Amino acid sequence: MLALTQTAVGALVLGAIVLGTAASDGPWVHAAEPEPVPMSQAVDAPRLPSGIVLPYPTTRVFRAFGACIGRGRHRHEAIDLGGVGPESGLGTPVRSMVRARIVLVGSGDERPKDFGAPDRRPGKTLRGGRRLPRSRAIDGYGEVRFFTALRGKWRSGTIVATIGLEPPLEGHLIRYMHLAAIRPGLGVGDVVEAGAELGLLGGTGVQKAGPHVHIDVRTPDDRAVDVAPLLGLAPSASCGPVRDEAVDAALKYEAMDPPGPPAPIRWTTPDGVIDCPP
Ligand SMILES: [Zn+2]
Repeated sequence: MLALTQTAVGALVLGAIVLGTAASDGPWVHAAEPEPVPMSQAVDAPRLPSGIVLPYPTTRVFRAFGACIGRGRHRHEAIDLGGVGPESGLGTPVRSMVRARIVLVGSGDERPKDFGAPDRRPGKTLRGGRRLPRSRAIDGYGEVRFFTALRGKWRSGTIVATIGLEPPLEGHLIRYMHLAAIRPGLGVGDVVEAGAELGLLGGTGVQKAGPHVHIDVRTPDDRAVDVAPLLGLAPSASCGPVRDEAVDAALKYEAMDPPGPPAPIRWTTPDGVIDCPP
């Protein structure tokens, strides 16, 4: 995978988001790969048994793999981790799951048509049933706009995509979407350590849902990976009978007390595991 050309990586990154849209309409990655710049923000973050660092708390899982649609594919081949803390987690850090190389940074500030035009109005807006501030000044970032007025062609909102450089995700494409902001200075070709801050939680590219980060992982041969077990959660979908552990996990999460003001736990057990044609 490391031998993949930047063009191939760009096509992979783009192709997985926008189906049916020409993949050649923008220089998504630098034409010439810059030397990796090891960043000096090594984070002494604990590793989960899977070998990854938790990218965000898992106390408010909105959605994981969705219904099976056959041939091993699922609706929503990702996990949505809802914001945790005051103001639904707006502005809290999202971290890299493993040591990784940045292959794409996309922001509505620079490419509003693709990644969503930032909502620059003052005041609050209703998201996920709560009134939340549209922006706030955050140390190191300046004024951060948490939402988009128009969600953009990609529907990803502000996004960081990486290629893993260490097990268990070596060569895997890992994408973090709907961010409010990308960490200033972070660029394509940079190498980030596991646990490094990639950006801030927001709700860009989605117009009504509560703030969350959408994380998806694809193997070097472009198969979707169920992110839930990597995060220490039960497998969230399978093409087969309902798995007891998924139900157990749902009950366990409902019993958890998220930090900050009480928030509904909206973990949904896989809705499609029952009817999955072979
Ligand atoms: Zn999602």
